[in-house]
Amino acid sequence: MDAAGLSTAALRIGLTGGIGSGKSTVGGLLARHGATLVDTDLIARELTLPGGAAIPAIVTAFGADLIDACGALDRARMRDLVFADASAKRRLEAILHPLIGLETQRQAAASAAPVVVFDVPLLVESGRWRALVDKVLVVDCLEATQIERVVARSGWTREAVQAVIDQQASRAQRRAAADAVICNDAIPLAELTAQVGALWQRWTRPLH
Ligand code: ADP
Repeated sequence: MDAAGLSTAALRIGLTGGIGSGKSTVGGLLARHGATLVDTDLIARELTLPGGAAIPAIVTAFGADLIDACGALDRARMRDLVFADASAKRRLEAILHPLIGLETQRQAAASAAPVVVFDVPLLVESGRWRALVDKVLVVDCLEATQIERVVARSGWTREAVQAVIDQQASRAQRRAAADAVICNDAIPLAELTAQVGALWQRWTRPLH
């Protein structure tokens, strides 16, 4: 995916945040204001469902063992593999990234909305995203809050959430890359909604 790949008349916002920060919640609120939401995680998941565009290349690269009985990527096995083997992670990314790029581009091009929000969990980590968006919006909160939320939402253990946090960019790295930060700690959803509304006004207000 290159910079021209996301060319659109709309304001392009890259939305990111650590696991459990409230990134998806903020994305949903921006969509309520009229933004088109392009969810790169969802795209990646759909590519690896039965019949997904990434499945043939995954079978070629990793063998049929990584495919479950329904024909989908066996996510748990793949997670174990890439956790233990950095070269497997790179091979998987080499398959997925171009396909995610194409679908991202297709969805952005199909949008007539004034704002397109790209929900990219690893925006700061990947490096290539910054040039593709006009603004980076980071949703931030304490690690303890991230852990609490993901345990409540997904039933994961605290250790499992911590392991994901440890693999992601630090809060400081994310904040350093941000054009705006939403601090989503100890605030009720109504306050989060108000903060997103204020940001929407600020970023979509005509200059003159
Ligand atoms: P992410 O996409 O960053 O992993 P989510 O948006 O899914 O995070 O939020 C994680 C969980 O925390 C969800 O269940 C969401 O409803 C909840 N949540 C997010 N922000 C708040 C908040 N300010 N107050 C209460 N619950 C919140």
